[in-house]
Amino acid sequence: MFDSHTHYDDKWFDEDRDILIPSLFEQGVEGIINVGCDMESSMRSIEIAQRYEKVYAAVGVHPHSAAEVSGNWLDELDGLCRQSKVVAIGEIGLDYHYDYSSRDVQKAVFEKQMEFARERNMPVIIHDREAHGDVIDTVNRFPEVKGVFHSFSGSYEMAEHLVKRGWYISFSGSVTFKTAEKLRHAVTAVPIDRVLSETDSPYLSPVPERGKRNDSYRMRHTIEKLAEIYEVSFEEMSNACRDNAYRLFGIAK
Ligand SMILES: [Zn+2]
Repeated sequence: MFDSHTHYDDKWFDEDRDILIPSLFEQGVEGIINVGCDMESSMRSIEIAQRYEKVYAAVGVHPHSAAEVSGNWLDELDGLCRQSKVVAIGEIGLDYHYDYSSRDVQKAVFEKQMEFARERNMPVIIHDREAHGDVIDTVNRFPEVKGVFHSFSGSYEMAEHLVKRGWYISFSGSVTFKTAEKLRHAVTAVPIDRVLSETDSPYLSPVPERGKRNDSYRMRHTIEKLAEIYEVSFEEMSNACRDNAYRLFGIAK
């Protein structure tokens, strides 16, 4: 299993991070991307990635933190993305659910990072919460930039549109939730060579472990659900998600 979106730098893991991460690799996890949300967590992502062979890092500024950037933050981000094990810019995007930063600031910081990714030819990890229209407008203006919509929450039509434009779609534990019929329908718009799996650990634990601290081993429930939808075996499903992640992020097998 390849977990394309985690936050093991979260303080929830402070007590057992160094025991937990190696144990995941003994339980069938083959790779993990730890994703940054601001400069500090991006730095911590790199530290974790450099400690474990099969952990990779993404660096970027989440819409929640968009209002915190200042000075030469893009130069700082440039320094981070040149470090070893950094495979993507993320997570970046728009969040109109919480609106922690004003929408204009979110949009400006998102666009700057799309330009940044384009200049460096790096894939991006998109966070889109209740901002589908504006996120689609932005990514459509950067046709050269490719990446993944993390913990996808859009419609069938939106997934179809993104796939046509070369994007990958990642599904989290949300796809196992009882009320997620619309999301499970959206999965059917995504060809099996464009789907990724993720936990968003420590958040979004899948059924039947909802509410618990999430980790990459629990992703098996999400893969089981996806396998059911694609009508393939667990192994085929998890290998497809893994190989798609390798291809998107340029990770050698
Ligand atoms: Zn995340």
